[in-house]
Amino acid sequence: MSQVRRYFLMGSYNHKIDSSDAALPLGKIVCVGRNYAEHVRELKNKILDEPILFLKPSTSLSPFSEQITIYKSFGACHFETELSLLIGKKLTGCSKREAVNAIAGIGLSLDLTYRDLQAELKSQGLPWEKAKAFDNACPTSTFISANKFYDLDNICFKMYKNGQIQQSANTSHMIWKIAELICYASRFFTFLPGDLFLTGTPSGVGALQNNDTLLAEIPGFLDVSTTVAVK
Ligand code: ZN
Repeated sequence: MSQVRRYFLMGSYNHKIDSSDAALPLGKIVCVGRNYAEHVRELKNKILDEPILFLKPSTSLSPFSEQITIYKSFGACHFETELSLLIGKKLTGCSKREAVNAIAGIGLSLDLTYRDLQAELKSQGLPWEKAKAFDNACPTSTFISANKFYDLDNICFKMYKNGQIQQSANTSHMIWKIAELICYASRFFTFLPGDLFLTGTPSGVGALQNNDTLLAEIPGFLDVSTTVAVK
């Protein structure tokens, strides 16, 4: 763990909506933990009374369709497939209506997590940024215009690894729903145009292996695939 690594930043990520540049800057990524009960159980965590929030910096963004490179010296790296929201307006202490109106696009991200490192940091009561906020820790798809979705609380998404279904979810299964999560988060962190909100992973997370192929989809709206290189 003491070895200092120099990461190669792809530098090619831009927010895109419906395949065009979104003209929004890259900002922070606000993430929620433990938002699907089955995932909380699979990691033997407790369901909490309030959402867990954490941040990834803009340097963790990379195009989902580019190869994912991870480093075995950091231990197991888990994929977590999450519905990702591109925020188009400033939000501070917002209402649910303002939250919904500020969503510019809906896409998919991976919340890549060095699980062994995270466990080690958690066991020592230390912040887990090294395990989740590293360069390229947030591969992100292009976004679909939010106005194409009729019901934020009924969006299905799936992820296949090497052709096998690995994660399958519907936003109706979230412990905290999208609008209330954005309101809650905006009490702590002002959202600026270009920020992302990651809504938590469903169950089925697991370690990435060299040469894995991943395909994630919001059926009827978008699909994106990538491969994995372990170094
Ligand atoms: Zn996550």
